[in-house]
Amino acid sequence: MAQAHKLDCEAAAADCRFIIQSEDEAEAIELAKRHMRDVHGQDYTAEELRSKHLKIV
Ligand SMILES: [Zn+2]
Repeated sequence: MAQAHKLDCEAAAADCRFIIQSEDEAEAIELAKRHMRDVHGQDYTAEELRSKHLKIV
């Protein structure tokens, strides 16, 4: 089974239930960046998201 890259926004913002899951790491990061900016008004770099928030599932 292919690995997926998952970001559970609840880990970063306690009141958010947003979850991103994609087999494409670049896509998962892009979606996460957009969500963080649009919903939470925070700018994360791809590297921050990859190292701190993305999990391999
Ligand atoms: Zn969120």
